[in-house]
Amino acid sequence: MRDETAHHEAALADPMLTHPVAIRRIVWENDDTFTLTLDTSGLNGGLTFLPGQFNMLYVFGVGESAISISSDPARSATLDHTIHRVGTVTTALAQLKRGDVIGIRGPYGSSWPVSAAEGKDVCIVSGGIGLAPLRPVIYSMVRQRQKYRRIIVLYGGRSPLDLLYRVELERWANESDVETLVTVDRGDSSWKGHIGVVTSLFNYIKLDARDTVAYVCGPEIMMKFSVDELERRGVPVEQVYVSMERNMKCAVGFCGHCQMGPTFICKDGPVYPLGRVRHLMDMKEL
Ligand SMILES: Cc1cc2nc3c(=O)[nH]c(=O)nc-3n(C[C@H](O)[C@H](O)[C@H](O)COP(=O)(O)OP(=O)(O)OC[C@H]3O[C@@H](n4cnc5c(N)ncnc54)[C@H](O)[C@@H]3O)c2cc1C
Repeated sequence: MRDETAHHEAALADPMLTHPVAIRRIVWENDDTFTLTLDTSGLNGGLTFLPGQFNMLYVFGVGESAISISSDPARSATLDHTIHRVGTVTTALAQLKRGDVIGIRGPYGSSWPVSAAEGKDVCIVSGGIGLAPLRPVIYSMVRQRQKYRRIIVLYGGRSPLDLLYRVELERWANESDVETLVTVDRGDSSWKGHIGVVTSLFNYIKLDARDTVAYVCGPEIMMKFSVDELERRGVPVEQVYVSMERNMKCAVGFCGHCQMGPTFICKDGPVYPLGRVRHLMDMKEL
């Protein structure tokens, strides 16, 4: 893995420049979530990033949104972004076709410290679209599987149709020894798996807590209950990392939209050691 700090500084060398990139592929993950594969090969041969970082995607004439990079960090000539259609920009992104051009600037923000988990067990806890910024972590770890002990993925969605990347999760479980537990809030007639909130999955695993590093991403309420559960099971707070989300405009720490207490999510986050943000997790955006 490249040096995380050096990469971060290099990525910010020209932070406000938007580059045109073409959409190479669109995959609908479910009714309102899709993955765009962007052709970044024209940007000095590719755009490198660290797991957990995000880009600002610009639909010309409409606006920009912060979207995490969801692809394999070993690949820089194309980048995936998995997008939930919620409002103006994400709806405009959803209407684009293969070959259309959008603007991209980034990558921005802090990353999941994957090196902190070397030689340890890894527990990835995610809900809904929260699996998107964690997918690059799984790719990295699966590639260097021998560096980690157990890799556990706990993932929850509202319904079976809402779950992301199911084929990949199954492949990692079968081929790369990733312990994958998936749950849904509401099942359907085809669903034979767990039903319940993500934290209910902790009942099915036994953690070697002192030697576990945990990465948590999802709706804030889910993150709060998940970090409580990790703490109850004895995972030291300094080994837990969370990714925070707030409305964002400039992405470089000028505008203050994403300020959360003393930190700016765009440049200090989105990934934080839990101890730094736990007391801020209830704080609403400005
Ligand atoms: C670091 C970071 C990474 C992100 N990664 C992803 C990702 O991988 N995939 C993805 O689908 N989304 C991601 N988001 C959220 C995404 O940026 C917003 O959903 C998007 O900007 C909404 O834009 P819009 O114009 O479609 O919605 P708008 O028309 O602006 O708003 C629609 C509704 O969503 C609310 N909203 C807008 N932005 C946010 C936000 N950031 N957080 C909470 N509520 C918001 C608004 O208040 C409003 O209620 C990320 C956000 C951040 C800060």
